[in-house]
Amino acid sequence: MPHRTCRGCGLKVSRGELQRYVWHKGALIADDKGDMPGRGVYCCKNEQCYCRLRKKKKMLKHVLRIRDEHVNGWEGACNE
Ligand SMILES: [Zn+2]
Repeated sequence: MPHRTCRGCGLKVSRGELQRYVWHKGALIADDKGDMPGRGVYCCKNEQCYCRLRKKKKMLKHVLRIRDEHVNGWEGACNE
């Protein structure tokens, strides 16, 4: 099983333990099948890592190549 880095906590975790997310139409969405086109980020399947991931807007912008105007208008914090 290949390993990927969780962008929330930074740990390397086997691919099957992670959820892939992509940037689509101005929002970060879960790629449940793992086959959506474009750049993706991986995150542990728990709320804590997901919240951390969403707060890392600079990283997301860089990794997912999101344009400034898009990420600036996006509410990155999760609804905890
Ligand atoms: Zn994690």
